[in-house]
Parts: sequence; structure tokens; C-alpha cells
Amino acid sequence: ESWDSQGAATYVKKVVNDNGTSEELVIRKSVKDFKFGKTLGVGSYSTVLLATDKNTSNQFAVKVLDKRHIIREKKVKYVNIEKNTLNRLGVHNGIVRLFFTFQDESSLYFVLDYAPNGELLSLIKEFGTLNEDSTRYYGAQILDAIKYMHDNGVIHRDLKPENILVDKDMKIQITDFGTAKLLEKGDNGRYPPDARSKSFVGTAEYVSPELLNEKAVGKPCDIWAFGCIIYQMIAGKPPFKATNEYLTFQKIVKLQYAFTAGFPMVVRDLIKKILVLNPKDRATIKTIQNHFFFSDIDFNNPQESIWDAPQ
Ligand code: ATP
Repeated sequence: ESWDSQGAATYVKKVVNDNGTSEELVIRKSVKDFKFGKTLGVGSYSTVLLATDKNTSNQFAVKVLDKRHIIREKKVKYVNIEKNTLNRLGVHNGIVRLFFTFQDESSLYFVLDYAPNGELLSLIKEFGTLNEDSTRYYGAQILDAIKYMHDNGVIHRDLKPENILVDKDMKIQITDFGTAKLLEKGDNGRYPPDARSKSFVGTAEYVSPELLNEKAVGKPCDIWAFGCIIYQMIAGKPPFKATNEYLTFQKIVKLQYAFTAGFPMVVRDLIKKILVLNPKDRATIKTIQNHFFFSDIDFNNPQESIWDAPQ
């Protein structure tokens, strides 16, 4: 395991000297390098704190996991999945970035991008519903991030507005990769396009029908969740919601949902193509990109069209 036993994470920094020569310095980071501030949130197995790098004054969100609690609750596997997935995904606008990991005697630390505007869920709740333009703005970013994950052999499996953070520029950052599936490359050096995995994961309202019917999911499960999120931004509530999980699952497998009054026609059309029971008939990332709802967005040029676009 690559948790550094000295309690420090190393990274290489390239510095250019005055005379034009450059050298690589190995920098070690540990708990001592950060000044910890307010608590940003508390999860079932972690506390997330605001922290400032004493050297650079850069702010981060540091996720602190209590080792004993993780071991007792048998969550070691998930902590490692989260670390390995974030390391594989590296740097992308739409994915929360993992800068360092280190540990001390009692805890594991993930030093992450700080997203000061909280969760997309809070934003939807604050406004009640989002209009078509905002839904397109966030939707295009989420779709671009899903494409990046899938292109890198990662299926998120628990996409929902709680797991989509909003950064200082109001851009989205997907987080919570503890239940992701990391695909292995095949003999052709590519990730298998239709790999499926069997463990039950997800959150009732966003779970795909194939998970409930066949107990197996592939990339289309993230597309299903994307459809639920788009619906929720417009309607203010997810499409499948009942008083308990069992009834929610019943609604999902029967495709029992209705559009709220005033739900824009163009978004209805998109949702109908995504919320399709058979994952083979469901819209793909490509067909969603080509849908009329996203006609103003150039997905071939995401940097300009999605990430640098004015709000
Ligand atoms: P659970 O583990 O119970 O599903 P969770 O996934 O929300 O909960 P954490 O990932 O530990 O648990 O996050 C706890 C809270 O901290 C989140 O609800 C979120 O509001 C906040 N948070 C997490 N990461 C960041 C971040 N990078 N920037 C800002 N706030 C964050």
C-alpha cells in the first residue's frame, strides 16, 4: 500500500534556477504543513476540515478518516478505492482533485480541492428549482466530467446532487469515489466498453433499473443518474421518490415518473431518452451531447464552451 509510513506524502516540484537550469525537488507533505480551520462537513466515516498550506497559503479541504473506525467498520477497501480512483483521474475541471494523502498514528488524510460553494443539492434546495439555462450550464459540466471518468475506466455508481460540489467559480466538481468501479485495461490496451460489476451500490432515488433487476451495472448507470439529476434541477425533486426505499425501487423498475407542470419540452425529450429501462437502449454520452438541449455547447471544445463560458 502506498500510504507513506513516515506520515508524509512526497511530490516532485520542478524549479527553474536564475541561470536557466532546472532541478527537481522532492517535497514531503504531512499534517504539520497544514493549519486546520473550520469543519466543512461530517460523513459517516470522515470529517472534512478546511486547511491552509502553511508554505503556500493555498486552501484545501482535508478529509480525515479515523483508522480504528475504518477498520472496525470494514471500510478499508472503500478508502483505498477512493484514493486509487482519484489518483487515476488526476486533474480535470469537473473532478475534485486529490493533491496529497498521508497518515499519522490515528488518521488517514486526503488533501482535496476545496469547493467553497457546497453541494449542488443545497443550491437546488436554495432556489427550489433551476431554470433551463442553469440546468444546461451544470448539466454540460456534469456530462463532460462523466465522459472523462468513463474514458478513464471509472464508473462512479453513486452520482447524485450531494456528490457534486460547487467551486469558487460556481463550476461543478464531482466527488465521493468510495464506491466507484475501476476498470482494468484489456489486451488491446483499452478499457472494456461494456464492463459490468455486481456489488450493490448507490442511493435509492438514483439507482438504475438494471441494478435492481440484474444486480449488475456498467457505465449506463451513471447516465441514468445523470438523467435523474437533470430532472431534479428542473423539477426541484428527483423523478423517483417515495416514502421508503422499497416503494422507490418499485417506481424505478416500472419507470413510474411524471413531469411537473411547466417542465420544458426540450428537457422532457432529453429525459425520455435517458430514463429508458434497458441500458442498451438508453441515450449514450454522445447522443446526449448531440441533443437539441445542448445545441449551443461545443463538447469537442469543452475548455472554451463549458468550463470558461460566462455564467
Ligand atoms: P457519507 O460518507 O456518510 O456518505 P459524505 O460522503 O458526504 O458522507 P464526506 O466525503 O466525508 O462524507 O464529506 C462530508 C461533508 O463535507 C460533505 O457533505 C460536504 O458537504 C463536505 N465536503 C466534502 N468534501 C468537500 C470539499 N472538497 N470541499 C468542501 N466541502 C466538502
